[in-house]
Amino acid sequence: MEVVTGVYSMGQSQGGNVHAFLLDDGVNGLTLVDTLFDTDAHRILAQVQSIGKQVQDIKHIILTHAHRSHLGGLARIKELSGADVYAHEWEADIISADRKAQPVTFKPYPPYRVYPLQVGLNLDIAKHVPIRVDQYIHQGDRIGPLQVVFAPGHSPGHLAFHWPERRLLIAGDAICTWPVFMLGWRGFTLNPKQSMESLYHLAELEADALCVGHGEPLKSGGAKRLQEALSKSNHR
Ligand SMILES: [Zn+2]
Ligand SMILES: [Zn+2]
Repeated sequence: MEVVTGVYSMGQSQGGNVHAFLLDDGVNGLTLVDTLFDTDAHRILAQVQSIGKQVQDIKHIILTHAHRSHLGGLARIKELSGADVYAHEWEADIISADRKAQPVTFKPYPPYRVYPLQVGLNLDIAKHVPIRVDQYIHQGDRIGPLQVVFAPGHSPGHLAFHWPERRLLIAGDAICTWPVFMLGWRGFTLNPKQSMESLYHLAELEADALCVGHGEPLKSGGAKRLQEALSKSNHR
C-alpha cells in the first residue's frame, strides 16, 4: 500500500499486525524502516520488486527499536543489500544479541489480545538473527529522506522518523492503530511518562500521514488524531 508518494507500507498478522516501510525519494536509493517478523523477508523483497527496484537499491535500513517483531527480516535484507544498518545506541547491543531486550511488565493491560506477545517478549522466546548496527543515530540526524526524532518511552532508544516535505511521520511503537488507535500498548511501554512526553513532541511535527509499528497507517489526519488522543488522555 502506498501511504503517500514514495512511501510503501508492508504488514503481516504475525508479530501483532506489525508493519514496516519502504521509502523511495528518487535520490538516495531506497530506505527501509524496520523489517517485519518473518526471517526470510519475503514481503519486503516482494514490495521492492513490485516498484521495479532490486534489493541492492536498499541503501539504508533504519530500526525504530530492538523488539523482535521489527527485527525478523533484518539479517536477510542486510545480507542481500549490503545496506547500512542504523539504530539508537541503546538498542544496538540488543540487535547484535549482546544483551537481551529489557523485560516488560507481566501485568496485563489493554489490548488484551496482545498479551501473548507481551509474555513472549518478557521471556525472550522468539529470537532474531543478530546483526551489528553500522551507525548510531540521534535526534536531528538525516538518513535518506528522513529526519531522526528521539521518541523514548516504549524503549529507551526508541526512534521515530519524519519526512517533512511529505508531511509523513513514522512513529514506531509510540503509537499503534491495531486493534484500535492507541498511544502505544501500555503493557509494552517501559517508561509511560517519557512516552507521553515523546507523544507531545511527535504531535508538534503536525504530520498528516501517520505510519505506526502495529496496524495500518493513516494516509491523512494523523496529527489531528494524535492531538485528540492526547487531549482525551489528559482528562482521564
Ligand atoms: Zn516494541
Ligand atoms: Zn512493536
